Amino acid sequence: MRIEYSVSCQPSIYRTAFAESLESIEAIMAAAFGKEPPKYYVSIDPDFESPQCCYYQSPAQIRLQTDGIHECQAFYQFCHELCHLFIGPNGYDRVSWLEETICELASLYFMKAYAPWTCFSIHEHLRLQFRPEKYTPFNLADLYDSQSCISQYLSKCNCDRKRNRYIALALLPVAEEFNEDFWRFFSSLSNIEPGLTLETAIGSLSRSTNLGNEQMNNAKAPSDISASISRALNNVSREIQFSIS
Ligand SMILES: [Zn+2]
Repeated sequence: MRIEYSVSCQPSIYRTAFAESLESIEAIMAAAFGKEPPKYYVSIDPDFESPQCCYYQSPAQIRLQTDGIHECQAFYQFCHELCHLFIGPNGYDRVSWLEETICELASLYFMKAYAPWTCFSIHEHLRLQFRPEKYTPFNLADLYDSQSCISQYLSKCNCDRKRNRYIALALLPVAEEFNEDFWRFFSSLSNIEPGLTLETAIGSLSRSTNLGNEQMNNAKAPSDISASISRALNNVSREIQFSIS
């Protein structure tokens, strides 16, 4: 994997292990999505304005806003940005709030999946993401009401990282129930209009997802996934404490 470090990056003795980690994470994600990502390289610079996936250039570029020595922070950003790359550029001029949420969930899910395979202390970093100051709670059931304030707000504002993360935390058990079926279900998110409400977006994904091909003989039906998402979001109370097991 091609990784470019800016001159602002701190030297690290773990660069080889770091590169191998990114390759391993990519392999885990490729297996989950059932496809390879487009060609890309990784740029690391603490002075980037934010992490970003530049998928309109060839090869694509994944920008990680980190200093080269906080590897777990880089893994977290990498999972999010690589998820954008797997989903692909959409036909609209911005990503949907749901795509931002699913990419945030990718960081939680794939870092947990990779944690047993590395010496980097991923669980420590993940624990930080589960702390209350990292998310903004709200009534998740309101996502199913297209007229609710939160539905109206999200349809206009795709990047509210703390609310995206709150939804992602609630969806993590669903992702862990369905695993690769979950990621393939969401792999066609780039076809989803940015302003859709949750119910409309999930309905649209259900119709466009075919999990029943020969690669996936035991695949769960899209309706099982959307029912499980509905249960997860309607059962979570505002006060819930998230944790990692
Ligand atoms: Zn994003």
